[in-house]
Amino acid sequence: MHTILHPAGSNPEIIIIGGGASGLAAACAIARRGIPAILIEKNDKLGKKLLATGNGRCNVWNTGEPVYFGDDGFAEQVLQLTGASGVRAFFAGLGLVTRQEEGGRVYPASNRADTVLRVMTQALERSSVAVRLNETVTQVTPDNGLWRVRLASGGTYSAPHVIFSGGGMAAPALGGTASMYDLLRPLGFSVVPPFPALCALKTDRKKLKGLTGSRFMCRLTLMDGTLPIASAQGEALVAQDGISGVCAMQLGRDAGALMMKGISPVLNIDFSPLLGLTDSRMERKTPELPDSEPVLRWLNERAGFLSPRDLLTGALPRPLDTQLLKNKPEDTAQALVSFRLPVIGVRGFDGAQVTAGGVATRKIDPKTMQSHDHPGLYLTGELLNVDGDTGGWNLLFAFATGILAGESAGAV
Ligand SMILES: Cc1cc2nc3c(=O)[nH]c(=O)nc-3n(C[C@H](O)[C@H](O)[C@H](O)COP(=O)(O)OP(=O)(O)OC[C@H]3O[C@@H](n4cnc5c(N)ncnc54)[C@H](O)[C@@H]3O)c2cc1C
Repeated sequence: MHTILHPAGSNPEIIIIGGGASGLAAACAIARRGIPAILIEKNDKLGKKLLATGNGRCNVWNTGEPVYFGDDGFAEQVLQLTGASGVRAFFAGLGLVTRQEEGGRVYPASNRADTVLRVMTQALERSSVAVRLNETVTQVTPDNGLWRVRLASGGTYSAPHVIFSGGGMAAPALGGTASMYDLLRPLGFSVVPPFPALCALKTDRKKLKGLTGSRFMCRLTLMDGTLPIASAQGEALVAQDGISGVCAMQLGRDAGALMMKGISPVLNIDFSPLLGLTDSRMERKTPELPDSEPVLRWLNERAGFLSPRDLLTGALPRPLDTQLLKNKPEDTAQALVSFRLPVIGVRGFDGAQVTAGGVATRKIDPKTMQSHDHPGLYLTGELLNVDGDTGGWNLLFAFATGILAGESAGAV
C-alpha cells in the first residue's frame, strides 16, 4: 500500500529520494524555505535506520577531529561549510537538545534515537514537503528541462531538482540497497565498488573455543603478514563467527579492502589494556606492532614469588588463561600481546553499519552537493564514496550534506 503521510504537493519544485538521515535533513531545510517538494521513501516508515543508530541512542555527530575514508578531502570540505556546529544549530532550530560524551561523541539529551527522528518529522508536518511512503524510485531521466522520477508502482513525478538520498548497501533490513548506484550509473556517474565497512571480523575459530560471548579490553591490530595495517583499541566481543565489538568493527573496512586485493590478513590481539598498561579508550590509533616489553616489566615488578598464572588468572576470559599464561614471564608477556587469529572474512552488508565505496565525488560541488555535469541533481549521505569512523561521523556527514542540498536546491 502506498501511504501519503502528508498531502502531496501538485507541482513539486524538488523531489527527494530516500527518507533516511540525509533525506530528512534535506527535507527539513526545504520545509524551512517553504518550497513545494516531495519526499519518497520505499520503507513503510521514515528513518528506520536512524532509529537503530548508536544502539538506539543515536550518536548524532562528533565535535572532534574528523576521521573519513574514501574520496580524499571531500568530507572535510563539506564540514568546513556545515560542520558539527552548523549541524547542531540546525537541530537546535528543530528543538533537539543534545549532550556531549567522551571522544566528542554527541547524543540527544533524551538518549533516544526516536527523539531525533521526531523533531525532523514534526518539522515536516503541515509543511511544504509532502511525504510518500512504500514507494520505490526505479528510474530518473531528463525530460524537457525537468527530471522525471519513475516509481515501481507505475506513477511518475517531474521536477527541476532531484535530491538523491537513498543511502548505501549496509543493513538491508533497515533500507540498505544498491538502488542509488543503479539510478545514477545510467546518468553517467561513476561508482567506486561498494564494500562493507564498520563490520565484525570473521576469524578462524580454533583458538576461540569456549569463548563465545566473552568481552574483554584489548588492542587489535590488523596485519598483512608482519606489516601492521590498522589498530583499534577498546572492548572486543567473541562472536559465533569471529571478533565483534566497536574496535573490531573499526578494522572491518581495512580487512575488506585487503581481502579484495587477495590478501589474507591476520588479527593480532594484545591483551595488555586488561592490565591497565595502555589507555583503554576506544580510539583509532596509528598501526603499531605489539610490544611485549611493558608487559614483561609489569610481570617482573610484581613477580616476587608469584608466577604469571597466580598474577593473572581471573583477569582473562576463562579458557584463555590456560592458553596464554605460561610459567616464564617472558613467554607470558609474548603470548599476551600476540594472540593471532587468521581473518577469513568480514560480515557482509547484513552486519555492516556503513558502506565504503559509492558514487565518486569529483563531479559534485561540496558547497551545494549539486552535480557539475547535471544541474538540478544533488547527491547526499552514504551513497557517496565517503565513509566515516565510528563516533557519529557518518550521521554528521549525512546531516551536513542533506542540509547543504536542502538549502541549495531550487535556489534562484
Ligand atoms: C545499526 C547501525 C547503527 C549505526 N549507528 C550510527 C551512529 O550511532 N552514528 C553514526 O554517525 N552513524 C551510525 N550509523 C550509520 C548511519 O546510520 C548512516 O551512515 C546514515 O543513516 C546514512 O544516511 P543516508 O541518508 O545516506 O542513508 P539512510 O539513512 O540509509 O537512508 C536512505 C533511505 O533511502 C531509502 N531508499 C533507498 N533507495 C530508495 C529508492 N529507490 N526509493 C525510495 N527510497 C529509497 C531507504 O529505504 C532509506 O530509508 C549506523 C548504521 C547502522 C546500520
